[in-house]
Amino acid sequence: MSLLFLRRAADIRSQVVALAAQGRRLALVPTMGCLHEGHLALVEAARAKAEVVALSIFVNPLQFGPQEDFSRYPRQLEEDFRLCEKAGVDWLYAPEEEQLYPPGFQTYVSCEALSQPLCGQSRPMHFRGVATVVCKLFALFRPCWAMFGEKDFQQLCLVRAMSRDLDLGVEVVGIPIVRAEDGLALSSRNVLLSAAEREQATALFRVLLCARQRYGEGERLASVLLEEARQHLFQAGIRVDYIDIVDEATLQPIEYIEAQGARMLVAGFVGSTRLIDNMALEGA
Ligand code: AMP
Repeated sequence: MSLLFLRRAADIRSQVVALAAQGRRLALVPTMGCLHEGHLALVEAARAKAEVVALSIFVNPLQFGPQEDFSRYPRQLEEDFRLCEKAGVDWLYAPEEEQLYPPGFQTYVSCEALSQPLCGQSRPMHFRGVATVVCKLFALFRPCWAMFGEKDFQQLCLVRAMSRDLDLGVEVVGIPIVRAEDGLALSSRNVLLSAAEREQATALFRVLLCARQRYGEGERLASVLLEEARQHLFQAGIRVDYIDIVDEATLQPIEYIEAQGARMLVAGFVGSTRLIDNMALEGA
């Protein structure tokens, strides 16, 4: 089947109704485009679950702060269409801003506790923007599943909570982080890095790996692991936005790591590009 471009909400609705009548199920992959192997892993997981896979491409202005990189965010729609076709995406939705936020738009979704720590500290309106657009996409597509990457771990937790709290009926599926050979988490923003910055950026992965190893060797104090990581990042020339070890369920900081379910999350600036990464501490 070839790629179907869905443009208007009414078109989506009629396709969704027809699909339900045929007893076929939909998995949705929301993205901001500039697709890479990380996104394609989400598509593959979606294909394994559902008869029909929809992918959305929308650089959502609501989730960018005024000083952030909305205008600089990489865009390559033609290439993305080609990648979607090759990956077996069935429906593609790449709306203009006015379609999702027409004049008079005034309704937002905000999550509480999960949106406060980590990225929420330096990007105060970010998760309101994420939750609002994802809620709209869920309402438009009524998918059975939606695939989200662990790369954006806080986002994954928050969207899962939103779907549960608002009874949206969408099972939110988390997909492991896809990395380059040298460990750097794939990200659309990686194209913004110079060759030297690209090299520097691998420190993010290395500090996570190192913390996991130290945890595996028996270090249980988060403050020790975090201080070592900060030192490494400083030496690599990365300006840390935050680095924390948190409980995966609540995203609240852990000081003494007793049980499973601890994860280190980091955000840092490599040059002017902000990158994030994270890793569960068990499994060393
Ligand atoms: P984005 O286009 O950056 O908004 O990402 C769209 C979806 O792809 C989100 O659910 C991300 O978590 C996921 N994603 C992005 N990069 C990766 C990666 N390297 N591995 C796994 N999932 C990813």
